[in-house]
Amino acid sequence: MKEQLEKLIELQKIDLAQEALRLDVETRRQKVESDSDLLQDLGQALEKQNERMSETQKLIESKRGGLEEAKKGLGHANTKLGAVTNSRDYAALEREVETFKKSIAQAETEIEQLSSALTEAQAGIDKQREEYEALRAEIEKNQQEVDAAAASIEDRVAELQAKAAELAKSVNPQYLARYRFIRSKRPGAAVVSASGGTCTGCHMKLQPQAFIQLQRQNSLECCQNCQRILYYDAAEAEALHAEGNNKI
Ligand SMILES: [Zn+2]
Repeated sequence: MKEQLEKLIELQKIDLAQEALRLDVETRRQKVESDSDLLQDLGQALEKQNERMSETQKLIESKRGGLEEAKKGLGHANTKLGAVTNSRDYAALEREVETFKKSIAQAETEIEQLSSALTEAQAGIDKQREEYEALRAEIEKNQQEVDAAAASIEDRVAELQAKAAELAKSVNPQYLARYRFIRSKRPGAAVVSASGGTCTGCHMKLQPQAFIQLQRQNSLECCQNCQRILYYDAAEAEALHAEGNNKI
């Protein structure tokens, strides 16, 4: 039994090593994916801001057109004012001149405000564009690294798989089936230590009778709570015991 458990533990080490290799690549791949989503969002935000900028630009141009019209109107009114002879027309033209002057001042203020908003927005967009390009470069680099990592673990994974298959041949098929069943149900370890009387898989304390049974090492014992295969290691139990005494 002890030997069988040792084989299962060894098999688990190999399986977990494979899993860790794959997980590392997978984690990095997910990072690339989430960064790509982020990049897309940034790109869309930039596009929208550019649209808004060109709308503002158009608005400025139309205000400039209005300004030119008002200036022309003022010129005409002033010319007419120089030629007028009766006071009623004079007063009317004077009001006209005032109105044009007001429109000119208003248009100039608005153009100035819009232009400065535009300059500010452009600075913001330039900064975001830089961030966008930096992220794009980082994604490209990470993608290359992920591809390289995925290719480089292939050989190692194949090697571990061959080793696991070889080892599995010498494990009791019933134990092996049990091990594989637990592995398929739960991530991580399927064979865990209970040398201290507690299942290290789920941290439940073993029933005294079950713990005694485990220490005898005559049968395959599983945790009543999480179903993981348990093992007992006398040296480990002693170390745990010593540690407990030291704490006191
Ligand atoms: Zn357990």
